[in-house]
Amino acid sequence: MRTTRPPRIACKRESLVITVFDGEEAIYTFDHAGRFCSAWAGYRLYRRALDGRVIRKHTDRSGRHPRRHRSFLEDEARATITDAAAGAASAALDALRDGTAEIVWSLPGDPDPNRATQFLEAAARFDAAAADADALRYASVYAPVPILPPDRYRSLVVQVTEGCHWNRCTFCSFYRARPFRIKPLDEFASHLGAIRAFFGQGLTLRRGAFLGDANALLLPAGDLMPRMDLLARALPDQAGDLAAFIDVFTGYRRDHRDLATLRARGLRRIYLGLESGDDELLEFLNKPQSAEEAIGLAHTARDAGMAVGIIVMAGIGGDAFWHRHVEATLAAIRAMELGAGDLLYVSAFAAPQSGPYAERAVAAGVKPLTEDEVWDQMDELVSGSKAALGPGARVARYDIEEFIY
Ligand code: SF4
Repeated sequence: MRTTRPPRIACKRESLVITVFDGEEAIYTFDHAGRFCSAWAGYRLYRRALDGRVIRKHTDRSGRHPRRHRSFLEDEARATITDAAAGAASAALDALRDGTAEIVWSLPGDPDPNRATQFLEAAARFDAAAADADALRYASVYAPVPILPPDRYRSLVVQVTEGCHWNRCTFCSFYRARPFRIKPLDEFASHLGAIRAFFGQGLTLRRGAFLGDANALLLPAGDLMPRMDLLARALPDQAGDLAAFIDVFTGYRRDHRDLATLRARGLRRIYLGLESGDDELLEFLNKPQSAEEAIGLAHTARDAGMAVGIIVMAGIGGDAFWHRHVEATLAAIRAMELGAGDLLYVSAFAAPQSGPYAERAVAAGVKPLTEDEVWDQMDELVSGSKAALGPGARVARYDIEEFIY
């Protein structure tokens, strides 16, 4: 690789970051096992999923609303960026050996050239062929992970259950092809062992653990506790900071004592898919919950010492539900009295052309919103909720299209 200035090698507690200066700057990030994770190159951001896909992203701010462009790379482009990352690591290794590299050391202790060399050697070996082999290993450890909340993208997923036990909300296709099942204890123990072996030193990049998939918390406490014990033994660095989705329609039956017990075992935050505060829209979506149940569950969780993450959707229910959806959703958020540590995510809904949602919408004469209208509604929900949130609660946009694990 032709460089116009020696590379910078940043050895961080959780990752290795290499900056190369080849005309324009490019930055590559790896976990401590050498796995290529992300790159900033040519004014584009690339992120590699553990399943081997690479997404490329940039934002166009020239229009009325910012437009995010994201695409998954074809095989050749995927191999090119992965090999470029491995090449950057190789060039950084040469520079480390000949003493020209700039080293930034933020691991505990004094800078350790041997450790930096190990990180760089592992990253230099992670070329396109190694990445493909790694993706195959990943597929033997996990069922596909279709979604996580944005603040949990770097969590370690542990699949206590697989799928969603309801799986009939019209707008949701995350788990359609996957029957719901609870992993038996011995299988869960093997799953944890396989996770440890797969990530290796790369575990340092993972903050806390996420109990997958859609509703692991429907397990009674008596079934969850032994699984949490196994998790604490297998992955102690992650087990103290747990999070999970909870479905409102079974979750609202959990009482304060039950949730306080889970909190004491490390469950710090639960995420509720409120979607809308309008019960009629929820019925239209075939989501079997009411706003009142969601409000009750949020209060119970907060009283039990947990933080909550609430997810609502902008644009869902099209033109017919627009105003009542916004009003009822903001009213539900106000009634939840969210405070310090709580999060509200507003996710843009892209109406599908076919499937259960589209069929129901056509039958009811519900027209989908345009992309700009969805953004307008998102602005209404974001600005309206700012006034509805208590001190320390935050609202953010949630782009589910760009999720990768
Ligand atoms: S409960 Fe959640 S995961 Fe299950 S179908 Fe509905 S939206 Fe999807």
